[in-house]
Amino acid sequence: MSFDETLHSGLTSLGWSPFFASSLELVGDASLVPARVSEEHRDAHVVLTGAATLRADISGRLRHSVPGREHLPAVGDWVAVDARPNEGRATIHHVLPRRGVLVRKAAGTRSDAQVVATNLDVVFVVTSANQDFDTGRLSRYLIAVWESGAQPVVLVTKADLVDDAGALVAKAESAAPGAPVHAVSAVDLRGLDALAAYLAPGRTAAFVGSSGVGKSTLVNRLLGEDRLAVREVREHDDRGMHTTTRRQMIVLPSGALVIDTPGMRELMPLHAQDGLAAAFGDVTELAASCRFRDCRHAAEPGCAVRAAIENGSLPRDRVEQWELLNRQLAFEARKQDTRLMIEEKRRWKAVTKSIRTRNKHETL
Ligand code: GDP
Ligand code: ZN
Repeated sequence: MSFDETLHSGLTSLGWSPFFASSLELVGDASLVPARVSEEHRDAHVVLTGAATLRADISGRLRHSVPGREHLPAVGDWVAVDARPNEGRATIHHVLPRRGVLVRKAAGTRSDAQVVATNLDVVFVVTSANQDFDTGRLSRYLIAVWESGAQPVVLVTKADLVDDAGALVAKAESAAPGAPVHAVSAVDLRGLDALAAYLAPGRTAAFVGSSGVGKSTLVNRLLGEDRLAVREVREHDDRGMHTTTRRQMIVLPSGALVIDTPGMRELMPLHAQDGLAAAFGDVTELAASCRFRDCRHAAEPGCAVRAAIENGSLPRDRVEQWELLNRQLAFEARKQDTRLMIEEKRRWKAVTKSIRTRNKHETL
């Protein structure tokens, strides 16, 4: 193979595709090469070019031209870099458009979006069979994943700890229409071959779910070595104490890529109406055939949702969950609107002030 061919097959195994190639062409700078962000640290990134692993910084121009932090390079991003393999360094000049972005609300009360991982093909929503199992939490994760554009797959872990894992799978399936559900165990290894089907070479996956549900253990099983730290469970409540603190992209022996994300308990996406509609496809479809468009599914005549609850084809708690999440999203949206309004006012104050100053100078 020539150098170019080696490089190209290197890129393909990192998930490079015609979609990204055409974006790079639009950048139109032949001196830049594509690379994928594999690690994100406070002050530096690590990128893979298919031929080298380089420590990368962000060009001042990129840093200052982005409209918000969420547009800066994140793990999983394809970027256009000026590569200096001799120095082991690179400079990131552009972030190529993303396919599949997992976003969460940043910690704290402000409604800031934080990019967790990008260019994901599949996201495993991990919940454990013993303590963590909760369909409300499952729905919240699923909404974020549907919103990301990646394919959600639900894993019910620690299946070895319960007698009837099948019942939990059935419960998860009714809470997650459209997403396949698998019971897995890192102890008796059941279900692990089902995972392999999603982990073809060049595909990018992520595992999300509460701390302690067994994400690191699963990745280690897939890796065939204990690379991610697994903490012992607390004696009394069965929950693991380990939280992943670093974001990194790992290459599995299968050739698939796994992005390891820090604990994501606060996973409530911002503009999640589409994700909510997808995660609750069964309910929204029914709601669309209610007689009144603004049906609140309470006492209105011709309500298809209530009819389905009454004839037993739609679980009542599923509708309650849907209504609860709708209210939470509406609340987040209002909070976001208020913040934008305040920012807009502040910006206008600054603009009008500078106009006033200029006018003053001109009249002098
Ligand atoms: P993470 O926080 O989601 O990454 O969870 P960890 O992988 O650190 O696992 C938390 C705890 O659960 C550890 O004590 C693991 O040994 C245990 N654990 C993980 N997977 C399984 C499993 O399939 N069966 C059982 N019984 N325990 C598991
Ligand atoms: Zn209705």
